[in-house]
Amino acid sequence: MSLSAKQAEFTRDWAVFLPYAILWADRHGYRLVMEETYRHPTATHGHPNSTHRMKLAGHVLLLDNGELVSDSEVYAPLGQRWENIHPDNRWGGRFSSPDGCHFSRTHNGIS
Ligand SMILES: [Zn+2]
Repeated sequence: MSLSAKQAEFTRDWAVFLPYAILWADRHGYRLVMEETYRHPTATHGHPNSTHRMKLAGHVLLLDNGELVSDSEVYAPLGQRWENIHPDNRWGGRFSSPDGCHFSRTHNGIS
């Protein structure tokens, strides 16, 4: 599958996922902010082969009274929902260095 076809599928999945995530956040007393659905190739942060640079990843940040929720486990229900949308979707909470706010589509072994 071409990268552009994957990007289109990721975009579709993201559009399905966001309303669920927003309602989940509302029900649990959080505010939700998304970020990094695209990272410019010249950005100096992050991995050089990041799925963010390929437009195959995004972050959903949960805010509790304006403070970022950094405990990846809090994001687990969102991660499970994301993974259930497509078998190639990956949740950062399962990474060796957990990153609960990271939601991506795997590409050439990179998530
Ligand atoms: Zn990320």
